[in-house]
Amino acid sequence: MSIGWLVVGAALPDFIDKPLGMAGVTDLFHSLGHSALLLPVLIVVGLVGRQGLALAVGWGSHLLLDGLHVVINGRPSDALFLGWPLVVPPTPPAIPPGEFVWVYLGSPSFYLEVLLWVAVGVLAAWSLRRGASNTPN
Ligand SMILES: [Zn+2]
Repeated sequence: MSIGWLVVGAALPDFIDKPLGMAGVTDLFHSLGHSALLLPVLIVVGLVGRQGLALAVGWGSHLLLDGLHVVINGRPSDALFLGWPLVVPPTPPAIPPGEFVWVYLGSPSFYLEVLLWVAVGVLAAWSLRRGASNTPN
């Protein structure tokens, strides 16, 4: 699976929705790019090939982790962004992305994310060491 396309897919929801929210096109910072209603589109993209599959997996993982993030932080109704535009969270935080960083730091999901990134780093280091030890001299 292409790591580059995985990263692009994981970043796309925020690259789409943050500018829309900041420009006032949508009322929420989780809208079009974060809508699970795009699932049929992601399935089609995922069937196109390895790059499409990586893009779809990255995008889907972003939605899953954003949904998990709000639930862990005690705001499960905010996960209704996944149903945008059919349903929306009743009291969305409406915090601009820059200010959100300060709200996010120290939240329960922040510590979970740190733990996940450490696990990814350990796995990557282990994989690189394993690959290096299997390389013929
Ligand atoms: Zn997001």
